[in-house]
Parts: sequence; C-alpha cells; structure tokens
Amino acid sequence: MLGVKVNLKQIVFGMKSKKLQHLIKFMLTFKLNNEPTNIQLTICYNRKSSIFQSHKSYKNSLCTILTKNSNKNRNFPSFKVNHQSKIKMKFLKLLMLFTVISFNLNAQNNSNLKNNQQENTTYAIKNVNVIPMTKENKVIKNATVVLKENKIFSINNSIPENATIIDGTDKWLIPGLIDMHVHTLADGSPFVIYPTKGPLVSYNTQYNMTPYLANGVTTVFDLGARTEHFGQRNEIIRGDVIGPRMALAKVIGGKKSNPIAKNPSDGRNAVRFAKEEGYEFIKAYTWLNKETFKAVIDEAEKHNMKVVGHIPVAFEGKPAKDFFVPHFGLIAHAEELSKQTDDYSYEKAQEFARLAKDNGTWLIPNMTNMLSISQQAKSLQSIENLEGFKYVHPLMQSKWLTSNGYYGASEKLIEYYNKLYEFHILIVKAFKEVGVPMLAGTDAGISGIIWGFSIHDELKLLVEAGLTNEEALASATRLGAEWLEIDNKIGTIETGKFADLVLLDENPLDNINNTRKISGVFVNGKWIDRSKIDIMLLDVERWNNANKEKYDWKELLNSLKN
Ligand SMILES: [Zn+2]
Repeated sequence: MLGVKVNLKQIVFGMKSKKLQHLIKFMLTFKLNNEPTNIQLTICYNRKSSIFQSHKSYKNSLCTILTKNSNKNRNFPSFKVNHQSKIKMKFLKLLMLFTVISFNLNAQNNSNLKNNQQENTTYAIKNVNVIPMTKENKVIKNATVVLKENKIFSINNSIPENATIIDGTDKWLIPGLIDMHVHTLADGSPFVIYPTKGPLVSYNTQYNMTPYLANGVTTVFDLGARTEHFGQRNEIIRGDVIGPRMALAKVIGGKKSNPIAKNPSDGRNAVRFAKEEGYEFIKAYTWLNKETFKAVIDEAEKHNMKVVGHIPVAFEGKPAKDFFVPHFGLIAHAEELSKQTDDYSYEKAQEFARLAKDNGTWLIPNMTNMLSISQQAKSLQSIENLEGFKYVHPLMQSKWLTSNGYYGASEKLIEYYNKLYEFHILIVKAFKEVGVPMLAGTDAGISGIIWGFSIHDELKLLVEAGLTNEEALASATRLGAEWLEIDNKIGTIETGKFADLVLLDENPLDNINNTRKISGVFVNGKWIDRSKIDIMLLDVERWNNANKEKYDWKELLNSLKN
C-alpha cells in the first residue's frame, strides 16, 4: 500500500517526489460518484510549460494516491488513485485537458531523462564481484557496493535504509570504459547561407550518446572536437541527455583542418585561441610542418595542455627521434608509426617503443580501425554485418556504404593494409615489452567504426596482440583516466570516485569478450539497467529506420554544389 498525499502544485511544479514523477506517464483511475474514471495521462513536466503555468489557480487541489497496483513493469507502473472529497471537478477537468496533450516519444524520453541531475538516489549492489582495476587490482568477491548521489560511497559497509538494492550475485563490476579516440557526430554545416540559418544536418544528442552507454563507455576523448561538442557536453551535464563524460581536443593542422597553422607563429596562436575557447587538449595533425609541430607542442606545454597527435608526414623518412619531441604525450594511432617507415620488423617496433618510453609518449594502438580498413577494402558487407550498424545515423550509413574511401582497393593495397596490421601487432608487443602505457581508442565515427560497440572489438584485438585481459581492461579504464589526469575521479572502483560502472554477467578477466555481456551501466550515479538500455537502443533503431529515406550522403554533397 502506498499512501502519498500530494497537491497539484507538487505534481506540476515541484515534482520533488520520484514516485510522483511516474504519474506523468501512466494511467490514473479515479472514482467519482462511485464511477471509475480512467484517464490516460501524458504530461511533459517541463516546469516552464505555459500550459501548467496557466492553471496555477488549481494548485491547491488535492488528491491521494492509495495503491500502486502493478509491478509488472518497473518502468511503467500504474497507480490507482481514489477520489477524495477534496478533489474538485476543476482538477479533473484540468487532468482531462492534459490528456489531449500528446508528446512524441522523443520528447517524453528527454523529459524522463531530465531527472538525471535531480535524483539523489542511493543504490546498493549486493553480492557482486568487484574488479577495481587499481594497480593491485585485488578482486573483491561477494561485495556490497553503495553508491550515493553520483559517487561510490562505500565498499563492504552498511547499506543505507533508503537504498535501491541491485542483486549482483554472480555478476562482475568494472569501472566504466573510456574510449580514448572518438569522433562524436555533432550538428554541422559546411556553409553559412544566411546569418540565422541553423546547421545543414542536426543530430539528436541522446541518440548519439546511447550507443556509448549501451556498451559501458562512460568517458570519451573526442579528437576532433568543435564548439558543438561543448554544447553536447553541456546537455549531458544539465541532465537533458544521458551520456558519457567528454574530454575535448582541438585539432591544429597544416591544411584541411581548422585552424590552419602554416608556421610556428600561427601554431602558437592557434594553441592560445584553443585555450581561451575552453579546450583542455590539443591534437597536432598530419599536415603541420616540422617547426610548426614543435611550436604547437611547446606552446601547449606552456598553457598546461596535453598534446595527442598524428605524426606529420613531414617527418617521413627522417630519424624517428625527430618526432618524439618533449611534451608530445600520446600517439593517436599505431598507424602513425607504421607510416613513418617501410621497415616492419620487430626491431623497428622496439626502436619506436624505446623512444616513446624515453619521451613519455603513450600510444593508442587503434587496432580496430586498421583491421576494419582492410576488411572494408574487400567488402562493404563487413560494415553492414556489424552488430551496431542499425544504430548508426542514416546519413553515416549512407556515407559509409556509398562513398566508402577504402572499398574497392587493389589487391596490392589490401596486402599493404594487412602488412600494416601485422606491424600493429608487433608494435603492441614491443611497447608492452618496453613498458609504454597503451590506451584503448577506436576512432569511432570513422567509416566502419561504431561508437561504443567498437571498444569491445579493440579490447579483443589488444588481447590477441599480446596484452593480458587485465592489461586490456586497464587500457580502457585506469590508464585512460591517468592520461586525462582525472584518475582521482574515475578509472577505478574506489570510494569517493564517480559512480561510472559497468555490471557484467561474466568475468572479463577470464575472457575479454565478457565486457560485451552488460547487465547494466552506472553513469554519474544514474543506473541504466539492461531493459532500459534495450529500450534506448530501440528508440535509436526505430528513428533510424523511419528516417532512412531522408538521408543520402551523395545527394547532400550534390546539394552543396548548387
Ligand atoms: Zn581520429
């Protein structure tokens, strides 16, 4: 029995009680003059809604919720509300008025998600096996993990009374995964046609973020960030969208990228602008000349910004020590190294590893992308068959299938790609041997590399290349957090850290593919269980299917020519 006395003001304006928030989407049964009256109530509880504000006069109407009469579906409970003498017909009329308000699924979802920041829910995961991913990584069997607000509150301590219990029996808890190399879709337009025009292509931020969360990715490092990504990050922080933490790197290149830096002075200015714009990291790009590459890195160091990057083509054929300049912190793909040489021996890989170690440069091997390039070169079916393809925005589906830059490569080129992949494996082995930290990064957003889903492919390939399951997991948890310098906040399961966690059905230390067996995800203390993950994914899939015809990459390009 549930007896909660509320007034309309609370329902409409305050929505303070979590249980009452459910009211907004469920069937209410009133009894008036002993006649049951069903009201299908769909209210978007946006507090700024003018509809609610226009009915302030009903704010003192009262009702009493007596029974919660269904537990069949935790997401959609229904309440039976009995009429009390104090319910006035006016109130009923007001509710009837709400029934005519219909909102599309998307609006409903977004409004539901709005709770994100307001919830102060306490959870206790009972009986769970914790893989903390600290350096010692001592697995804690059958533990009780309490999460309060958005932090890990305690491990193996008492359970607060108000905690929602999650049964962790036979399950495994790991830190939320970090993808250290992504390109998240964001609104964009190549040309400004008139001053008040919006982007040519817009995206639903939630749909962009859902595949990350569905795969346990709770932090991403965007290596092609634009202003729009700050907007996305704000949406997440505000609680309008559930999404991962986003670290943003500004690209500085010699051509084909914005801003273009052709000399050291331009390069230094570009870094200063990026700092002022709020970027935390710099990505040095392929086309910088040698002097500008060095100047960009030097200037970034002065502003306390870490540098990730490609290795400019200007260094090709030059001694490898030339591009390991001080403060060059992270190589964005192993491919950068293989492009610098045609010697694909283990000795060469070891030379790179030693130089990286001496310079403090870490590596994102990015195995997934290299392997995918060689597969796409042979067949587009390799993309269509990907597990997450249906969650890829239709414009990108169209681009990857109709304007694929790799498909149809010559036998010789495919052989070359395969050789590069073999060299990637040697690089991973050599970097491991020498002790250079490696980070899991997938290049998600590049054709054939799907946001979120790709992290599991990367982990699998890192293990195939010679990392242990634990080392691979570290590359996507603690080590990524260390490089981003947020390891005091995320990356391991320890009290006081943010509640970014993945609950797995099986042990990933036994088999790295078990990272795919996700029972639920905590992101910033918000619990998304398997059924909710599936609903969120289905939303994306349905929208993609319904809008497929509207997006054609080639048509879009043609429209720009006119
Ligand atoms: Zn990239």
